[in-house]
Amino acid sequence: MEEELIQIKNTAVSLILDTKNQKELEDIKLQFLGRNGKLTLAIREIAKIAIEKRPEIGQLANGVKQTIEETIEEQELRISSQESIKRKERIDVTSPGIKSNIGHLHPITYVLSEIVDIFKKIGFQAADGPEIETDYYNFEALNIPKDHPARDTQQTLYLDTRKSKVTPGEIILRTQTSNMQIRVMEKMKPPLRVIVPGKVFRYEQVDTSHGFEFWQLEGFMIDKKVTLSDLFGTLTFFLKEFFGKETKVKFVCHNFPFVEPGAEAYISCSICKEKGCSFCKNSGWIEILGAGMIHPNVLKAVKIDPNLWQGFAFGTGLSRMVTLKYQMNDLRLLTNPDLRILEQF
Ligand SMILES: [Zn+2]
Repeated sequence: MEEELIQIKNTAVSLILDTKNQKELEDIKLQFLGRNGKLTLAIREIAKIAIEKRPEIGQLANGVKQTIEETIEEQELRISSQESIKRKERIDVTSPGIKSNIGHLHPITYVLSEIVDIFKKIGFQAADGPEIETDYYNFEALNIPKDHPARDTQQTLYLDTRKSKVTPGEIILRTQTSNMQIRVMEKMKPPLRVIVPGKVFRYEQVDTSHGFEFWQLEGFMIDKKVTLSDLFGTLTFFLKEFFGKETKVKFVCHNFPFVEPGAEAYISCSICKEKGCSFCKNSGWIEILGAGMIHPNVLKAVKIDPNLWQGFAFGTGLSRMVTLKYQMNDLRLLTNPDLRILEQF
């Protein structure tokens, strides 16, 4: 019996000292001191031994119980102090804080403000207008009547107006920022120098160079004796300011319905220096702008006398200006919210 008690004490103490947390300690306590614990059962056995031996064994049993209880108490203190040290390590108020990231402008916003600044230098002001537009401002007033083939090149998104009194097909998402040419000319009297950066929408299959929602930049000037050379001079100034002084600019004849004559502007490829590469489709030049002298019909539509006033207009994809400036090969990167892309700017 003595041996058994001493055995219990030794096992219990070594197990207690091995515990690493309160839960383990609680289990050991139950294992020895619980209702069916090893020590509890052993003490019950004392009743069965010879009566003269009982006091001695009883005393020993009490000693064992006391030792186990004390060891448990000490271990409990040890565990809780270790846990509080760990807690302190987790919330170390003296450690330096983690700096939170400061955001920055999106490349489109950045390029947009750069372009506005360039045009401001030569007296242009920026205008903003509605993205939901009527057929009249988006097409008709721009010399693109309902049966004009130029409409086919601008896959239009129509708003569902079935529950309203509006004629079906009259309310659209603007396909070009040119709607603002008309809106500005209606409200303001010439001379005018205006640029309109803004979002436009077309029903397009999305790929590396097309999106259903993209940014355009539109600009126009109306004054007396405005000629084609004013247009070329303005655009050359802008393109050299934006892409760099070494950039070469050339103009090629092109037909647009709301200008006469019309031209396309090209810039020399900055990657291959006109030798030809995949970026410029081996031509050495990149098409960048559409432009021309404003068609007299457009001026008449807003009650400006074309015999007295002339003007030029130009337009370009602002998203494309961004991808060209940063030499990105996919337009979709501009609307990608992935921070690994955005943080590169
Ligand atoms: Zn090239």
